[in-house]
Amino acid sequence: MAEQTLMDKLVSLAKRRGFVFQSSEVYGGLGSVWDYGPLGVELKRNIKDRWWRSMVHARDDIEGIDAAILMHPRVWEASGHVSGFTDPLVDCRQCKVRFRADDPRLKGPPGDPATACPNCGNRGTLTEPRMFNLMFKTFMGPVEEQAAIVYLRPETAQGIYVNYLNVQTASRQKIPFGIAQVGKAFRNEITPGNFIFRTREFEQMEMQFFVKPGTDEDWFEQWREIRMKWHVDLGLRAERLRWHAHGPGELAHYAKAAYDIEYEFPFGWQEIEGVHNRTDFDLSRHQEYSGKKLEYFDPATSERYIPYVVETSAGADRVTLTVMADAYREEEVEGETRVVMGFNPAVSPIKAAVLPLTRKDGLPEVADRLYHDIRRRWSAFYDDSGAIGRRYRRQDEVGTPWCITIDHDTLSEETVTIRERDAMTQVRIATSQVQAWIADRLEEAGR
Ligand code: ATP
Repeated sequence: MAEQTLMDKLVSLAKRRGFVFQSSEVYGGLGSVWDYGPLGVELKRNIKDRWWRSMVHARDDIEGIDAAILMHPRVWEASGHVSGFTDPLVDCRQCKVRFRADDPRLKGPPGDPATACPNCGNRGTLTEPRMFNLMFKTFMGPVEEQAAIVYLRPETAQGIYVNYLNVQTASRQKIPFGIAQVGKAFRNEITPGNFIFRTREFEQMEMQFFVKPGTDEDWFEQWREIRMKWHVDLGLRAERLRWHAHGPGELAHYAKAAYDIEYEFPFGWQEIEGVHNRTDFDLSRHQEYSGKKLEYFDPATSERYIPYVVETSAGADRVTLTVMADAYREEEVEGETRVVMGFNPAVSPIKAAVLPLTRKDGLPEVADRLYHDIRRRWSAFYDDSGAIGRRYRRQDEVGTPWCITIDHDTLSEETVTIRERDAMTQVRIATSQVQAWIADRLEEAGR
């Protein structure tokens, strides 16, 4: 499948079937802001829930929080975002298009009269690079003045740092321990695009792990392994995942080591999650800027120290896009093309579709009862319109792993047919066993 076509197909399927819509579409849309539709919200929520279960519920040493988006403005001075969270940009005076100064299409220094604008091709029309802060600003209270500026957080991590002692005391955790959070972040990205890959409003799934200095490198390696495994267990093809180590020139000001988990999208290898050794940079800075001691007291050794932090930071939207791109496939079946979203059933928006073969002879009543039973535990869908083959296709396209067909034998034998999405094989089982059957399959998928 040609590269761009796959993205075009994904965007169009996402809209047609209710995964993702452009924000404010009736007004022409808002640049790089997207809304999740009925199926997209289920998919993304399942991904976030899976992350939460593995990072918080399945571990004794990680606690969850949900910090506010708005924080004290000094937080962003301490974190370095006010002064450092900037991209150098170049504008074209002719066509008014804006580029990152490191755009590979720029051949030569932007201020040089010989350098052509990558968009309109004119020479000598580009400005010198200028710094552009990526944080969204707003005002708190009635007066729009400098003193009232607050920011929409550009990362969720800072809400964790400033709460780390509160959480530690309240939960009686001892170092090493971590704090996890899923929440919105905002960046006024200059070169957004590629659908929900880079957006201006997005969600992060972040975990900050507080460790004793000196043990950080070991923990860093452990977290790298755990996080890569998570993506593989999610069902992503291992050959489309790889590590990218940040070289000295790429490392953020706070980081001692940084590795990105990259996925091979139709538009190339791109970061989906970062694992960073942030040292004691953030906590030391908050201690300095707030004037409050942020040291940890180790009861075993009576030592006091500022912990080091190993961060794992993934984008929920980016992982959702990854799951969609990885799952999409087209197959020839009996001379027709079927589109399949081969999601891991654990994240599929709909777990089971209940399909009565006809709308008469008492089949709808039995189907309806089964549908309501399933719905008590999982998201399910009822469809009684059209030929059964077409109904299967509609479910394949949104990644429903199991279609349960109610036919005349269901009435006489109390059995149903379950048709499996990928192999398209069918099994006949007792109607009373359907829930246990689904539960078993989901248990397998969860691993
Ligand atoms: P990039 O280099 O792609 O801008 P980054 O290195 O700035 O990303 P981090 O600050 O490490 O990203 O953010 C951690 C994660 O948050 C990223 O791996 C990504 O999944 C997600 N993320 C960051 N920026 C965006 C965005 N604009 N839209 C969607 N997800 C994002």
